[in-house]
Amino acid sequence: MADEKIHWADLLADKIIKERGKKDQYVCASGITPSGTVHIGNFREIITVDLVVKALRDKGKKVRFIYSWDDYDRFRKVPKNMPKQDLLKKYIGIPVVDTPDVFGCHKSYADHLEKELEESLPAVNIKPEFIYQHKMYRACKYAKEIKYVLNNKEKIREILNKYKDKELLPGDWWPAGIYCEKCKTDNTKILDYDNEYKLSYECDCGFSNEIDFRKKGIVKLSWRVDWPMRQHIEKVDFEPAGKEHYQHPGGSRITSNETYAVLYNDMKHPIDLKYDFVILKGIGGKISSSLGNVITLNDCLEVYQPEIVRFLFAGTRPNTEFAISFDLDVVKIYEDFDRLEEKYYNDDKIDERDKRIYELSCIKIESKKPERIGFRHMTMLVQIYDDLKKISKDKKILERAQCARNWIEKYAPEEFKFKIHEKISKEILKLLDKKQKDSLKLLKEILEKKRFDEKSLFNEFYEICKTTEISNVDFFRGAYLALIGKEKGPRLASFILAIGKEKVVKLLKEAK
Ligand SMILES: [Zn+2]
Ligand SMILES: [Zn+2]
Repeated sequence: MADEKIHWADLLADKIIKERGKKDQYVCASGITPSGTVHIGNFREIITVDLVVKALRDKGKKVRFIYSWDDYDRFRKVPKNMPKQDLLKKYIGIPVVDTPDVFGCHKSYADHLEKELEESLPAVNIKPEFIYQHKMYRACKYAKEIKYVLNNKEKIREILNKYKDKELLPGDWWPAGIYCEKCKTDNTKILDYDNEYKLSYECDCGFSNEIDFRKKGIVKLSWRVDWPMRQHIEKVDFEPAGKEHYQHPGGSRITSNETYAVLYNDMKHPIDLKYDFVILKGIGGKISSSLGNVITLNDCLEVYQPEIVRFLFAGTRPNTEFAISFDLDVVKIYEDFDRLEEKYYNDDKIDERDKRIYELSCIKIESKKPERIGFRHMTMLVQIYDDLKKISKDKKILERAQCARNWIEKYAPEEFKFKIHEKISKEILKLLDKKQKDSLKLLKEILEKKRFDEKSLFNEFYEICKTTEISNVDFFRGAYLALIGKEKGPRLASFILAIGKEKVVKLLKEAK
């Protein structure tokens, strides 16, 4: 396919321009109910939109990127990873924005979850305009739309019933709910509607009232209708949705699209896109799914630099499932990125798609190739130097160093970890045979005598082996045992140079 050469975000941008026509401004939307931790799977939606927004802007288009916090939705279920489960259970049925922050640091439960994401997005250069739906509803901004929906409830019922085999919507069904003025829950029933702005209701708590929803923002459209209503009012051109919303029969995005077309036939429903799940790899016992613990963008940023996080998503088509790795693959992913960067700056034959993956990954495209230290090498350096500033003063290099240190401490396989000996213990000395001790003595003498770079030192190892008639395998094993007490370690020549000649010489003196 010829399209394979063009990045998916650019293809989508072209599609949006073509199908939605010429506009002064295009609107791209994303959103979520802050009812639980916003995890990396949810982030996939945000970055999918961001990549399309950037693709549109690169084509010279003006774009409004909105992110809806659906914080006027009811609190349905207590997520397993939240503290104070019993306390939270008491708030089921009230808006998430009125549920208390169980961490005790924000105005509300919703506010806590919202801020957690809002504060982490700028790091990956994502800056949407946030819309807080509780504010919109409470300020009665949707009164007209609510009236329109209530008057068209039969059309909506028809769409929703189409996907139901047995239990059709009951006769007294309404596409909206009311939050009780007394107990705040939506355990209410609409009793009467005057086809204008007056609704009467009663609540399970015993309270009943008649209200004018131009004056009291307590009526909330049910979410299958709320979604197309807002897309209509916000003039959304593009909004993706997770694959669970497309499930048959009657996935919420399917009914939302149909509802949009029936209610707002002035335009076709916004262009949509189904994105797949993100799975996690290599988190082992750190995260227990039975506890409902989840990985957030911040957790990813502990291990991956921002451009690498973007690279993971920019380099994968949204409709394919992919894994974010915390195991050994982390090293490979950094190497893939560095290779792409090298190609971008130094290979004229780089293909268009790769070029775009790089551009869309970068927080800022530098005029000159940024200085980098490979991640594998970095994992060694961060274990040699306590103070990372000794590795470099460059901000981006230090950022990578911190990621490497976090990875070593939290996720790296044992074989990657080491601690350099201060002294060689008696136990280790017992493990070294005569040939190994002789070769280490020779290594020490050579190090004292000459200056080396990595290559010349590496060549020297083979001279040592010849002279002391030791096998290469035994020599390297002896050296690692002396330095770190393990049989394997980082590439020896660069390892010795990174530790520093003096320290190695001092240590090897003891190998006798
Ligand atoms: Zn908080
Ligand atoms: Zn009530």
